[in-house]
Amino acid sequence: MGFLDKLKFSRLKEGLEKTRDDVMTKINRVVKAKRKIDDELLDEIEEILILGDVGINTTSGIIDRIRERVKRERYEDALELQGLLKDEVANLFKGETVETDGTSIQIPAGHKPYVIMVVGVNGVGKTTTIGKLAYNYKSSGKKVVIGAADTFRAAANEQLEIWAERANVEIIKQRHGADPAAVAYDTLQSALAKDSDVVIVDTAGRLHTKANLMEELKKIKRVMSKLKEDVPHEILLVLDATTGQNAIQQAKQFRDAVGVTGLVVTKLDGTAKGGVVIGISSEMDIPVRYIGVGEQIDDLQVFDREAFVGALFEGLTTEEERAG
Ligand code: GDP
Ligand code: GDP
Ligand code: MG
Repeated sequence: MGFLDKLKFSRLKEGLEKTRDDVMTKINRVVKAKRKIDDELLDEIEEILILGDVGINTTSGIIDRIRERVKRERYEDALELQGLLKDEVANLFKGETVETDGTSIQIPAGHKPYVIMVVGVNGVGKTTTIGKLAYNYKSSGKKVVIGAADTFRAAANEQLEIWAERANVEIIKQRHGADPAAVAYDTLQSALAKDSDVVIVDTAGRLHTKANLMEELKKIKRVMSKLKEDVPHEILLVLDATTGQNAIQQAKQFRDAVGVTGLVVTKLDGTAKGGVVIGISSEMDIPVRYIGVGEQIDDLQVFDREAFVGALFEGLTTEEERAG
């Protein structure tokens, strides 16, 4: 691992610390208390995972598969369970492996500009994520423009402007209250005129008028596709890890109403509900693209399932450890 990779991995581990402390410490404890794998131990682990926000369906699936393997492959030693668990969790993460330069996800050939629309309910971290994402693409040498299509929230323009400045990218905005679809249109038009590589469109997320919100998002899509048929290329749904199982409900609503091509799970730092990432990706069948591990501009990481599972399970008691 290079220096930067190590740095990122230690950031990820730091971000997952609370989850690890909570869920993994509990698993260590029940496993250490037993020598042999039995139904009681599997039940205890099942309960820990459910309480850890992995989700009931996902957890049942994991436990069923472990039970089957224990029988078939004749595992007996309780300490072998952690290896099995890690395997099963790693297997759950869906999705094509994404091409990444370590900072951002590679843009598929023939998409210029590559148009990303960012959706999600209020406060989940859309605007912050856009700032970080713009910074990541900019760092990868891309020309980025962001569109301030959350025209509903009073201070939304100013907030996005600050992020645009930090990331050193262009921003297109209109007055507060303007038609969000018109802002998106302007943004794409500007990107086409200036030969930009990436367009990122911010959107409103107020929930009290849910039907209107979904209609507004559909309209943004419709109006942008007048300029370029195949856009948006990516609809990123931002979910706040601290909301736990609620995030899955939100994901279903946005998926059904506007279509979602990728997930961003934010605020993994500071929550013990990091297990929600496992449940969401397996229950939604939509890949997790990025995770937020802090409030700073460089705190958005391309989701790397191996690194995630590694960071999550680090520190589990191993067989060698007990032997030694
Ligand atoms: P929006 O309403 O969806 O646009 O959400 P904002 O981008 O305005 O973010 C809401 C709050 O979440 C802000 O205080 C952000 O700093 C915070 N936030 C966003 N992402 C993260 C993250 O990954 N970690 C932490 N700790 N806070 C975050
Ligand atoms: P409506 O508000 O439901 O009638 O939706 P429209 O299809 O008119 O699109 C909403 C906004 O997007 C408009 O107010 C325009 O600002 C912008 N827009 C849509 N199509 C075009 C177009 O062909 N040219 C320009 N300049 N703007 C457009
Ligand atoms: Mg916002």
